[in-house]
Amino acid sequence: MNDIIEQVGLPAVLEMLGEEGAEMTHASLKWARQLRGENPTPKTEEECREALVEEVADVQLMIDLLTMSGIIGDAEIRTRMGKKMLRWLDRLEAHHEEQ
Ligand SMILES: [Mg+2]
Repeated sequence: MNDIIEQVGLPAVLEMLGEEGAEMTHASLKWARQLRGENPTPKTEEECREALVEEVADVQLMIDLLTMSGIIGDAEIRTRMGKKMLRWLDRLEAHHEEQ
C-alpha cells in the first residue's frame, strides 16, 4: 500500500478520495431517489445498490490506503465514529421524547 502512495504521491491519493467520495455521494443520492419514486429513474433498486457497493469499495480502498500507510489513524477514526454514533442516538432519543 505504501508503494502506491510513494509512486503517485499523497496529493493524488487525496484527490482520488475526493473524486470517489463524490461518486459515492452520487450513487447514494440515486438510490434514495429510486426508493422515493417521486422523480423516476430508469435504474432498478438492484442496479442502484450495486452502484453504491462499487463506489463504497472505491472510497474504502482510499481510506485503507491512508490508514495502512499511517497517514490517518484507524484508531482515531474509530474513536470519532463512536462519539458521533452516541451523539446521533442522543438526538434521536431527544426527538422521540419531544413527540
Ligand atoms: Mg468510483
